[in-house]
Amino acid sequence: MLQIENLHASVEDKDILKGIDLQIGAGEVHAIMGPNGSGKSTLASVIAGNEDYEMTEGNLLLEGEDISELDPEERAHHGVFLSFQYPVEIPGVSVTNFVKTAINETRKAQGMEEMPAAEMLKKIREKAALLEIDRKFLSRSLNEGFSGGEKKRNEIFQMAMLEPKLAILDETDSGLDIDALRIVANGVNKLRSENNAVLVITHYQRLLDYIVPDKVHVLMDGKIVKTGDKDLALKLEEKGYDWIKEEVKTA
Ligand code: ADP
Ligand code: MG
Repeated sequence: MLQIENLHASVEDKDILKGIDLQIGAGEVHAIMGPNGSGKSTLASVIAGNEDYEMTEGNLLLEGEDISELDPEERAHHGVFLSFQYPVEIPGVSVTNFVKTAINETRKAQGMEEMPAAEMLKKIREKAALLEIDRKFLSRSLNEGFSGGEKKRNEIFQMAMLEPKLAILDETDSGLDIDALRIVANGVNKLRSENNAVLVITHYQRLLDYIVPDKVHVLMDGKIVKTGDKDLALKLEEKGYDWIKEEVKTA
């Protein structure tokens, strides 16, 4: 699904990502962990096409197609979804209307008609039921006065509705409380399928108790320095990152 080779990226002429190789297959969930400032959010931004970041070298393919030259909207239309650590408030636009617009923009970009209202409504009902989201929530103004948990619920609902091929959830700085953690984990687990791939960025090992990743990668100073399974996350929780630094030094 996602294929990253020797990816280098910089921001304001400072090299941040220094040769990332990462392949995520269809149906897989991978986690990226790493100390603050190691480049985790930068990686998410570069995949999503955030224009503050410049990809200076390497390959970035989604389903075999080079997406590195596409702008963020085009990548979204190709099925890349990035959760927002700091979502914007849009007074007067409801959770549902926002997502309807997003879906129809994608369809338009793909040369399709708008989704018929009845089909849209059915889909909203199905996804809301799946994620246990009540109707009152769907009519609220986007992010206005949302709690941390409600912001997460909104993101996960957007993800469920848009059915991205690649969902990137950057949870690093969002201070997930237990409620928000469950919402994210529950959403990801219910939406995992053979048609999508998920990249979860977190420094909360706890999240990975609920979302069991196929692989865990440790990012340090712009490079993936170690890859393992879910047990690696447990080891990091217990021992921190210093032992990996030592390993890298002596390698
Ligand atoms: P992480 O998410 O792992 O904590 P980031 O990707 O946010 O790390 O940051 C990696 C490095 O890139 C840091 O040194 C940070 O200061 C720098 N950086 C990230 N975004 C920007 C930006 N927009 N402008 C300047 N420096 C940035
Ligand atoms: Mg970050």
